[in-house]
Amino acid sequence: RETQFTEEMAKPCCSFDGQRVGLFVNAGLSGALADVASPSVGGIGLYRSEIPFMLHSHFLTESEQLILYKKVMRSAKGKPVTMRTLDVGGDKPLAYFPIVESNPFLGWRGIRLTLDHPEMLLIQLRAMIKASVGNAALSILLPMVSNLKEIERSQGYIAQALQEIEQELGRPVVPPKIGIMLEIPAMIFQLPQISRLVDFISVGSNDLTQYLLAVDRSNPAVSELFDSYHPAVLTALAEIARISNSLNLEFSICGELAGEPLAVMLLVGMGYRQLSMNPGNLGRINYLIRRLNTQEMEQLLESALLCQSAYQVRGLCIEKLESLG
Ligand code: PEP
Ligand code: MG
Repeated sequence: RETQFTEEMAKPCCSFDGQRVGLFVNAGLSGALADVASPSVGGIGLYRSEIPFMLHSHFLTESEQLILYKKVMRSAKGKPVTMRTLDVGGDKPLAYFPIVESNPFLGWRGIRLTLDHPEMLLIQLRAMIKASVGNAALSILLPMVSNLKEIERSQGYIAQALQEIEQELGRPVVPPKIGIMLEIPAMIFQLPQISRLVDFISVGSNDLTQYLLAVDRSNPAVSELFDSYHPAVLTALAEIARISNSLNLEFSICGELAGEPLAVMLLVGMGYRQLSMNPGNLGRINYLIRRLNTQEMEQLLESALLCQSAYQVRGLCIEKLESLG
């Protein structure tokens, strides 16, 4: 099968009945970048900018970030790149920037932290925008957004960074698209307002699951309760797709779920048309989608949403996979 999966990567990803599904890569380490060139890959759907920060022993300077981001954008070979601003805190500590708090996952994480340190945010935004010039269409993705003010303040800094780069280069620069991670459940209820502010949303199913179920994603004592196949989580994901479609808001998903065959059948059934995943999953996801009709996936979803438990949902999905041979 593995060779078959590799061959599959040369083919565009669409369902058996011809529905296109964009496959994108989650990256953060340079190893993941090689796969972006593959013909079936649409670009980088999530660049986790905190990963290089976690691997260094100091905050990367603007010029260090510029070198790094240029490498990332060039590896995309003209395909679009979505870069997420620093998402530290919670499960992603920086040794050289210790944060002590009793509830790290509800605390100083992601955009909260960088908006409190605009000098850090601005350096990063400047490096991202500068690196994109002549290399890739850039989208900037804001992590852990929990209110509209955070979006507006971030947009102010993006506008400032853009203006500074334009002044330095002495010419206009294509403004980046701006989007947020949809990973805090409350944001589902503000999608109409969010859609007026941003160009797109990207669903972070890892954190969305954690916050919907109130289960720490990294605590082994409760790891059995952390389950994105929980019917309530699936209902939330389906709602996000339904509402976004009704608002004409571009949406994609970049959590681990987007790379899992069992879940992808449900996600496509919900209407997700852009999936961003770890590169190792691209081949099998393409292989799977090409063998399914959209209608079958919609029917599977309908049954899944009526299930009582995650266990039942998995059972249904496994049955479907097995029926494909
Ligand atoms: C997520 O929360 O689903 C996500 C993609 O971001 P991270 O796993 O980096 O928090
Ligand atoms: Mg997250």
